[in-house]
Amino acid sequence: MRRVFSGIQPSGIPHIGNYLGALKNWIALQNTESALPPIYCIVDLHALTTLSGHPQQLRQLTIESTASLLACGLDPKKSIIFKQSSIHHHTQLAWILSCITSSGVLGRMNQWKSRQKTHNSTLGLFSYPMLMCADILLYRSTDVPVGDDQIQHLELARNTAEIFNRTYETDFMKIAELILPSESGACRVMSLREPLEKMSKSNQSEYSRINLSDMPSVVKSKILRAVTDNESRVSFEPDTRPGVSNLVSIYGSYSDKTIEMVCQEFEGKSTHEFKIALHDLLIEKLYAYQTEYQRIMEDKGYILNVLEQGRKQALEIADENMKQILEMTGLSYN
Ligand code: ATP
Ligand code: MG
Repeated sequence: MRRVFSGIQPSGIPHIGNYLGALKNWIALQNTESALPPIYCIVDLHALTTLSGHPQQLRQLTIESTASLLACGLDPKKSIIFKQSSIHHHTQLAWILSCITSSGVLGRMNQWKSRQKTHNSTLGLFSYPMLMCADILLYRSTDVPVGDDQIQHLELARNTAEIFNRTYETDFMKIAELILPSESGACRVMSLREPLEKMSKSNQSEYSRINLSDMPSVVKSKILRAVTDNESRVSFEPDTRPGVSNLVSIYGSYSDKTIEMVCQEFEGKSTHEFKIALHDLLIEKLYAYQTEYQRIMEDKGYILNVLEQGRKQALEIADENMKQILEMTGLSYN
């Protein structure tokens, strides 16, 4: 049976890149009848790489991220939704996997190389991909829906599973498949300020992203200020016109249209006219989300209950798998 697993960091307010690159697929995948319930994790331990020393903020963002997932359409009756730090097996398995992984491999991770320049280069930031491998392998996941910035980390998880299986002469670890957004999806939404960088929760500039919670006036000023170029036509040429191409991709993904359909629709129109149309589309799409988000946030007890029920369900699976891993590795008496 297939098992979907993915995670989101409570490192900030989710943005449209998170939605189009990952969450949209998470929601679609919870309706696959032939698979086990998908597991979606609020990866707060990962967020500690940027939020150490800010306990109140981390707590609040964990609640808000959970509410965001529910407002986007995740259904706790269909999906297991829980907080990473509530199951200690993740860190335990990360250590076991660290002991079969060379530090050189982690040093080659693109995210480490780029973040090292802007973040405190802590050991946690360096070994973060190991914890992500553990998240995936702990549940013997077969399918991992993520944006394309996570391709390298997923490849690491696949390799680590193979190394584990070779080291312990087993086929226990599953080699998970990457699930990227479909053709009309946007697997890498770019920053509105620097269209060669991906849109990120942790980017310093609020104008680099559109948060799912942004009010219409904020969306408008962010879209109108989005970096394009000195040509006025609407086209998709990511190499030479990254700014406008990013907006075309966002429009296509939110309206379930292909890039060609979007370019055709705006043939002869200016980028300004296109930006206004994109603004109108986003306002409409975000409105439904925001109404639902406000409703959910009024009942913190419900959110905590979702996380607690999810923890119990995830723990059952993690306990069973970890028992076998401890036996295989010689860490238990069996
Ligand atoms: P941070 O800057 O703190 O790393 P983030 O915006 O990258 O935050 P994550 O929580 O790290 O968000 O990622 C959650 C999911 O969203 C992952 O599957 C990731 O691949 C996807 N994702 C993140 N940013 C984008 C983006 N710009 N375009 C498409 N998918 C994205
Ligand atoms: Mg990220």
